[in-house]
This record gives sequence, structure tokens and C-alpha cells, in this order.
Amino acid sequence: MLYSKLAEFYNKAGNTAKRLEKIEILSHFLKEIPEKNKDIIYLLLGEIYPEYDERRIGISSQLAIKAISKATGTEEAGVLHEWKEIGDLGKVAEKLTEKKKQATLQRHVLTTEKVLENLRKLPSLEGKGTVEKKLSLIVELLTSANPIEALYLVRTLIGDLRIGVKESTIRDSMAVTFFSDKKEAIKKLQDAIDKTNDIASVFEILKTGKIKQLNVLELEIGKPIKVMLAQKAKNIKDGFERVGKPCAIEYKYDGFRLEIHKNKNQIILFTRRLENVTRQFPEVIDYIKRYVKGDSFIIDSEAVGFDRKTREYKPFQEISQRIRRKYDIEKLQEELPVEVNVFDIIYYNGKSMLNAPFGKRTELLRKIIKNEPYKIIHAKQIITSDEKEADKFYKKALHDNQEGIMFKNLQAIYQPGSRVGNMLKMKPEERDLDLVITGGEYGTGKRSGWLSSYILSCKDDSTGKFLEIGKVGTGIKEKATEGGNEDISFNELTEKLRPYFLEEKGKTVKIKPKIVVAVTYQEIQNSPNYNSGFALRFPRFTALRPDKSPDDISTLKEIKKDFEGQKRNWKYG
Ligand code: ATP
Repeated sequence: MLYSKLAEFYNKAGNTAKRLEKIEILSHFLKEIPEKNKDIIYLLLGEIYPEYDERRIGISSQLAIKAISKATGTEEAGVLHEWKEIGDLGKVAEKLTEKKKQATLQRHVLTTEKVLENLRKLPSLEGKGTVEKKLSLIVELLTSANPIEALYLVRTLIGDLRIGVKESTIRDSMAVTFFSDKKEAIKKLQDAIDKTNDIASVFEILKTGKIKQLNVLELEIGKPIKVMLAQKAKNIKDGFERVGKPCAIEYKYDGFRLEIHKNKNQIILFTRRLENVTRQFPEVIDYIKRYVKGDSFIIDSEAVGFDRKTREYKPFQEISQRIRRKYDIEKLQEELPVEVNVFDIIYYNGKSMLNAPFGKRTELLRKIIKNEPYKIIHAKQIITSDEKEADKFYKKALHDNQEGIMFKNLQAIYQPGSRVGNMLKMKPEERDLDLVITGGEYGTGKRSGWLSSYILSCKDDSTGKFLEIGKVGTGIKEKATEGGNEDISFNELTEKLRPYFLEEKGKTVKIKPKIVVAVTYQEIQNSPNYNSGFALRFPRFTALRPDKSPDDISTLKEIKKDFEGQKRNWKYG
């Protein structure tokens, strides 16, 4: 298919904020996509592979600037200047391509196949000369592009398509295009998407007219599925009211999610972002082999760090390095051991458990997992209707250094990728600080190309210096077009900070204190890791504070006061 057709669609969809109109426009476009071009569905989402695949485009704005400069014959400084004026690198590419077009007439025709072919070469490039090779693949596309194509090519490259099309928009458009009963179709399609985690393959089935095939789709071991997420409960009463009585209440463990797949002798571990971390956790593989019965299964769990000597649980931040580290794995396993807390099962011995009620799933877990504390255990759970009992359990969870509790409806099915109302989380109330960003770290996988964690600093009122107090990576969304409560994406925040980059070393960046953000946290701890002497527990980004200057931020004195105050707080008593 011609890329110009796709660009035309992007433009139309991006020009309306109304969801129903987007669905209408998209359902027309879906009719035009030939069956053999099903991979265009990935491009609609700004991707090149299905969600479960780890390969991402991951091009930084800096590289995109170089490519625009080369393709349009504009000096890099000129591109940068335009970028500062316009604020959207895609629009910059559009403008400069327009200018160049007036000067030259020569142009090749760009197809979606060619775009995918070049983009798909990007993630696998490694080693010497990578940057040059990437650049030439991108420049080849940009020199063939007309202005509007250049706009969307660049936005795709930097992972910021801005057309407001999500997986659910495509699902609903497919329902309109291929079915008469839309409501029924949406359910069916969602089920197919959940099981394959690949909306393009679902589209292909519809396009070939073999709709019955949707019914026989099954989960595949080794292919990660999106995990189910929770909404918030305000308090215990609210929790019971919303999930119903009696319900299951579990510890909300402060670790990281592990989706564990087993097929005979093969065991694969995925994170919440569906990254394969099998190699990083050899001990977990061993626990699964030894303490979980079954030939094949997918279980959902939270891995929590603990101290080998004191047996106390550690906050997530202290073990987070185990997820990324690719070397010294044995040593790290010794220093930062984890316990796997299993709380759900999605598939067992050849059968999907997605539609089984939670009560049944949890019973099955009890049968198949042999509890081995500090190795693998069934998540601590009570089933109750009693508020007092729930409150006692909640305090115990906090006392055991965990984040809080989860309320779970015993009848609920497992809904991959949804933030559902029948699983609620409850944590202690959060407090606020205004802090300035003074550093950052580039992400990996889906987040490569932009900063995915940000160093926060407060102000030392006696010296006027900025002192580090923590790192934040939550409260920020993956993409600008994603819905949800968060109002800024990693990409947007990185671009806001880029003009203030002072020094880049490997994956870390030092940043001039300019951008002030509001952050909530649950607790302040003493910490040798930051030069303020304190660290925030569970920091979460809530808003940019363009109205505040770095001089107005929270001071060390105020933070000390909060620290002293919280010691008297009931919640850890
Ligand atoms: P938060 O920052 O509060 O963890 P989140 O957006 O990361 O929020 P939520 O779905 O809102 O994720 O909260 C649920 C998360 O809590 C899960 O992703 C999981 O990693 C973790 N968790 C810990 N213990 C449990 C449990 N017993 N059941 C379900 N999830 C649990």
C-alpha cells in the first residue's frame, strides 16, 4: 500500500478529537488495507511488531534531527532552531521537506512495505557504525517522503504519533467493519486480542472472512500477555463496597511483577512491560521447577527482595537493578535475593483460566504451589467481609514493609491489560513535594530513546545548593497518545528537559535544575544513596509546575520536618 494513503489516514484521524469519528474514519481505512498488508495495523499504533515483541524503533530525537538535516539539506542548527519554534519534530520535518520539494522534483514512491522494512532493521543494529547505519535507513525513507509523509515518519520514529488511536479504537473499528452486532463483536474481539496479544493477527483472520477461527484462538505459552491492573480504593469501606462481600484481600507486595510461563522444561519470565527477563533470575526458574506442579502454565506474581540475614523485606528500589543487569547475575542473586509471591493463574495444563472466577483460580494456585518462604509462596490472602479484620491485615502488610493491600472480587475473570474495578489497591495516603529534576537515565526496550527515570532534588536553604532525594519513573505515561490519568509521557518530559542537558555519560544525564515537578510519596527514609541524606519511598510524578522556579521548591529543612513528623505517624506503629 502507498504510504501516502496511510499518512492521509493519520491526518484525518489526528484532526478529530471525537472517538466515534475516529472509529468511523478508521473503519473506512480498514476496508482498504489488503489482507497481505496486515502489518499496517502495527503502524497505526506507531509500532512495527506486536505488543509482546520486544523489538522497538527506539530512535532518539537527536538522531531524528540528524536525519531530517541530511534528508532536507538543512544544517542541524537550523533543524534545532525550527524545533524550538514549532515544538514538534514531525512538523519540522514537514516544513523542511516542503521547502526542499520546491527546489527539487525528484522523488521515489514510498510504500508501507518499504517503511516497515527499513524500520524493522533498526532494532537489530548493534556494534560499530550503528548510528551511521540507522541514519542511512531513515534518510532513505525521508528523502522519498512528501511533506505529510515526512511528518508521520518522524513522529513514528520518535514514538509519538499523536493521532489518538489506541488498540481499543482499532478493536471497535473492526467491530463496525466486520460485524453486525457491534457490542457482541467487541467482546469477541477483545477475547481474541487478549489471547494472541497481537491485534494484527486478529485483523488478518477477519480479513480472510474466517471469523470462526476467532473461537479457537488460545493463549500461547512463551508469548506474554498483558497483565491485569487495579483501580484505587479510598479506604477499607470503599474497597468492600466496590468489590463486594466477602472478598479476597491480599498483601500488595512492593516488588515487581513477574509473569511466569512454563511449557515442559522451558520456563520464561516476563516483566509487566512484557520484557523477557528469564536470564536475570536463575533462582526463580529453579523454584518454579521444584515447587510448582504442572506441565504447562502461566502464573502472575510479584517478586520481592529481602535481606538474607535479617529476613526483612526490602523496598523495590533496592532490588530494581536485578531486572536490567545482564552480567554478574550469580553475584547479584546472592546479594539481592527475591521471593516470588504468586497471586494469579492465567493458564493451566492446556487450558485458559482467563474466564474462571478468581476464587477458583486462587484455589488452583493453592493446590499446585508448595509454599517455600523466601523462595516461592502463595500471596498472603484472607477472605473476609469484616472491616476490622481487613484493617488488621492492612496494618500487618505495612508492618511487613509492603505497600498496602489489594481487594479482589472472588467471581471476577482475568482481564488482560485492563485497569479493572474488581481488583482494587489501597495504600497509605500520599504526601506532596515540589522538586526539581537534576538528572535522568535513558530507558531500555520500549522506552529506549528517552529518559525513563528522573533524579529529583530539593533545595538546601542554608547553602542554596540542590540536593538529590530520589528517582521517579511512575506517574508518567508511555506515549503521548495514551489515555489514563497521567498527563505527560516519557518522550514529552525528555524533550522538555533536553535543552538543559549538561552532560551525558553512558545512560545517565546531568540536567540543569530548571524543570520543577510535583511528586507524591508515602514515606521519607534515611538514605546514604543521595546527597540530601534522604530518599523518598514510592515517589510518583503528579504534575509539571511551570509556575514554580527552582527557588520555590521544597527545602531540606521542610523535608527533615516531614521526616520527623512521620515517625509519630500511626501507620507504622
Ligand atoms: P502501583 O504504582 O500502585 O503499583 P501500578 O500502576 O504500578 O500501581 P496497579 O495495577 O495499579 O499497578 O497496582 C497493582 C500492582 O501491584 C500490580 O501491577 C503488581 O505488580 C502489584 N502487586 C503486588 N501485590 C499484588 C497482589 N497481591 N495482587 C495483584 N497485584 C499485586
